[in-house]
Amino acid sequence: MNTKKDIQLPKSLTPITVVGGGIMGCLASLTAAHLGYSVAWFGPQEQGRTDGADARNYALAPLTVELLKRVGVWQAVEPHACMVTRMEVFSGDTRVDLAASDAGSEFLSAMVLHRDLLNALEQAVQFRPQIHRIQARPDSIQATLDHVQVMCNGQSMSTQLVVGADGARSWVRQQAGIHWGQRDYGQQGVVATFHAQHAHGGVAAQWFDRGEILAMLPLSDPHRFSMVWSTSKTNPTSEQVIAEFLRELPERTRQRFGDLTIEGSAVAAPLRMVLTDSQSALRTVLLGDAAHTVHPLAGYGLNLGVQDLLCLEDLWHSAKEDPGAHGALRAYDRSRRLRVKKVQWGLDLLQRFVTQTHPSLEKVRGLGMRLVADFGPLRQFLIRQAMSPQ
Ligand SMILES: Cc1cc2nc3c(=O)[nH]c(=O)nc-3n(C[C@H](O)[C@H](O)[C@H](O)COP(=O)(O)OP(=O)(O)OC[C@H]3O[C@@H](n4cnc5c(N)ncnc54)[C@H](O)[C@@H]3O)c2cc1C
Repeated sequence: MNTKKDIQLPKSLTPITVVGGGIMGCLASLTAAHLGYSVAWFGPQEQGRTDGADARNYALAPLTVELLKRVGVWQAVEPHACMVTRMEVFSGDTRVDLAASDAGSEFLSAMVLHRDLLNALEQAVQFRPQIHRIQARPDSIQATLDHVQVMCNGQSMSTQLVVGADGARSWVRQQAGIHWGQRDYGQQGVVATFHAQHAHGGVAAQWFDRGEILAMLPLSDPHRFSMVWSTSKTNPTSEQVIAEFLRELPERTRQRFGDLTIEGSAVAAPLRMVLTDSQSALRTVLLGDAAHTVHPLAGYGLNLGVQDLLCLEDLWHSAKEDPGAHGALRAYDRSRRLRVKKVQWGLDLLQRFVTQTHPSLEKVRGLGMRLVADFGPLRQFLIRQAMSPQ
């Protein structure tokens, strides 16, 4: 890794500057470069993330896969991906199967580990001379009507647009003065990898029980899963709680994949919905978790960020002269604001519904699930929604 003294900022006006060393930052840089823009990417290498992201397995929606193909990364991702063709959802003794074939699609999602996806994206950056990677965080950004001044390590550069893709605790959001708030779910997402006795066959499974959500998401190895357990326990990673959870696992998963053995240790992250007043400010846009976070129960988080990027891609197509022009940024905010809020509050409602433990509400949930199981058009509608969060 570069030390700060090796850092060289671009000397000429750079149309697009991306801040954020994660998946959205890297993908945004590649997308802008693909359209012919010069890009400065403040992408410090991620080291030892403590939020469990390294063990996280993303369910990439078909639209996300299309974007990866367009920017030339899918070929490197595909060998590490597991194509999910069916999702099984259990609540009490009710089960609903959501099959890709019901919606006329080959797959519901492609499961990829955070590290595999980020490695493939970072490698692609090395072959894009239009991307000037700066492995550091900027020290300050100062937006004016016609450009933004970015400072790093005593050097200065000018850019037309800053893209904040620096995660849920976004520094860019703070610099741009964008108001934000959060709803704490009072839950933690515990992520761990498991080896299963039976092969998964491209099936993902989710259980709504005891006011908790347990998901087993298949990995490219036919016997391995990434688990996301949304639990309200206050200290889910304590050895005692994990040991108890592992003891209960056969009953919780109804032995769907046989015996499950944990590999490595479990990591927990608090689950919160981050809401922002706006996704744009003067010569600045927010993208991905910097703009919004959602409960992970539907695997939408990253895909929602990709929807932001697809919207920017459209605008960048037609705003070649000045990608940071006020009109384009307003259009971005208008296009995303309602759609994002709809997904955020829709998932919030779903989270409340599936975690209710009152017996009468559990009965309603069972009835709702049976309706989905028996009524094909409703099932198809839900599958399409799951595949394309808008
Ligand atoms: C338990 C859990 C499970 C999840 N499962 C799924 C799933 O199955 N499918 C799915 O689609 N989504 C899932 N998500 C959501 C998903 O993880 C996020 O939506 C996604 O990682 C957001 O990516 P990002 O690049 O916007 O933010 P981040 O991953 O937070 O990346 C931000 C990056 O910016 C860097 N950074 C921070 N500050 C600066 C700065 N000042 N300058 C430069 N860089 C900076 C950080 O180091 C980091 O590398 C899950 C989330 C949780 C909590």
